Amino acid sequence: MAEEQSKTSVRIGGLACAISCRRANPPLQVTVLERTPEILTIGAGIHIPPNACRVLARYGLLEKLKQAGGYEVDSFTLRRYEDGKILVEKPLKGRMETEYGAQWMGDYQSALLKEALDLGSVVLTSADVTSVNLAPDGPQKLFLKDGRKISADVIIGADGLWSMSREIVLGRPFPPTETGDLAYRGTFALDQLKGLHNERIDKLLEQSNIQVWLGPGRHAVFYPLRNHTEYNLVLIAADDLPSGVRTSQGSVQEMAANFEGWDPILTEVISCLRTALKWKLLHFKELDQWTKGTLALLGDASHPTLPYQGQGAAMAVEDGAVIGLLLEKFQNAGIPSGQVEKNKKLASLFRLYEDLRKERTKVNVAGAVHTRHYYHLADGPEQEARDEELAALPGTEWKSRCSFNWGDAEYQKSLLGVDILAGTERRCDEWLGTHDVAF
Ligand SMILES: Cc1cc2nc3c(=O)[nH]c(=O)nc-3n(C[C@H](O)[C@H](O)[C@H](O)COP(=O)(O)OP(=O)(O)OC[C@H]3O[C@@H](n4cnc5c(N)ncnc54)[C@H](O)[C@@H]3O)c2cc1C
Repeated sequence: MAEEQSKTSVRIGGLACAISCRRANPPLQVTVLERTPEILTIGAGIHIPPNACRVLARYGLLEKLKQAGGYEVDSFTLRRYEDGKILVEKPLKGRMETEYGAQWMGDYQSALLKEALDLGSVVLTSADVTSVNLAPDGPQKLFLKDGRKISADVIIGADGLWSMSREIVLGRPFPPTETGDLAYRGTFALDQLKGLHNERIDKLLEQSNIQVWLGPGRHAVFYPLRNHTEYNLVLIAADDLPSGVRTSQGSVQEMAANFEGWDPILTEVISCLRTALKWKLLHFKELDQWTKGTLALLGDASHPTLPYQGQGAAMAVEDGAVIGLLLEKFQNAGIPSGQVEKNKKLASLFRLYEDLRKERTKVNVAGAVHTRHYYHLADGPEQEARDEELAALPGTEWKSRCSFNWGDAEYQKSLLGVDILAGTERRCDEWLGTHDVAF
């Protein structure tokens, strides 16, 4: 179990933050500490919605993401669980750029790690941080399991769902809450799925599309990876793992049993698997405190969410970009020469970061819970009303309100169409105006 987890280290938030800090003018010195021996398959299968794409486009990364196997997503289709009938199809290609200022892409792949390294970040693997000393009158210190010590002006706790930094910020353990759902994730080679000789599956393989089957208490998601050489199936079902168990191997039999009576192509695709990792889905409704002195949390460490809006990594990218921009502006405003004063100002800057990010990420976590409700409706009047409302959404232009976030133009605009860095610039300039940072 631990072995499997270590193989799938992701680290999108930390790398986005490193890139943002290295792109500062002049660049900030960055050391990324990763406890696993190797950072593997970064973000394989994780979608990049327009709000994150906008940030990555600003860093000139879109072409690099494409070269690394990323692709622009054509459309997003919701289907009925039992027969795969299309409930609604939302075109994304082209439209996302017009409406939200950036495209919707599939797959981060390894582009973020390469960029962070190319820009001069130091990435240390097998660097397991076991404790931190936050000194008001000196640089901050991190202690690694193997005895090494690292010093830094600031520490960004981008250490994920089971964050140790979060415990330091809060001064007590604060594990995320069980949501009642779990996810199975299976990956397939193109040839494997072609070998099924199923016309409907072959058609799906040709599309750059996110397919979601909605059913009572569960849903299934299917989409291409690595420029259509691989495909991903995510099955969401009721959590049957004992409390406290984070992940385990799921059998094909249990996956098939969970989706019995669903669209037969799902059963066929599942039959290609031998096993799939299943893991408990956890979140926080809200974390009260994100920063302590010169330590700030980002990504899943501060706002883990159900993955039903495809926003967990995207919000971590936004967090990292905001931190980099704030630190760049702070640096250029003139850093106080005394360590105590400098630490105080940095602590205040991080409170601004928390203020900038908290509400937005809280709305996202709540939005994912709302989506869960609508995705998982049991057959009946509420499900029928949902399906009717979705069917009535206009095919090309999404300007209308809808009781389901997924179809609500205003909600989507607030989630996907926000220029997070423009807002940060403005607020930071105001903050600098009220703080005599320069000495
Ligand atoms: C099924 C599923 C589908 C998803 N799909 C999407 C999607 O389509 N789009 C999207 O935006 N999000 C998606 N997400 C969410 C996304 O995967 C996470 O929100 C994101 O990966 C969090 O990134 P992070 O950098 O904050 O944390 P992580 O990726 O968890 O990175 C934390 C890193 O810190 C390291 N670490 C931890 N402790 C220490 C320590 N003490 N010392 C050193 N290193 C340490 C870990 O090894 C890890 O590499 C999905 C999630 C799930 C479960």
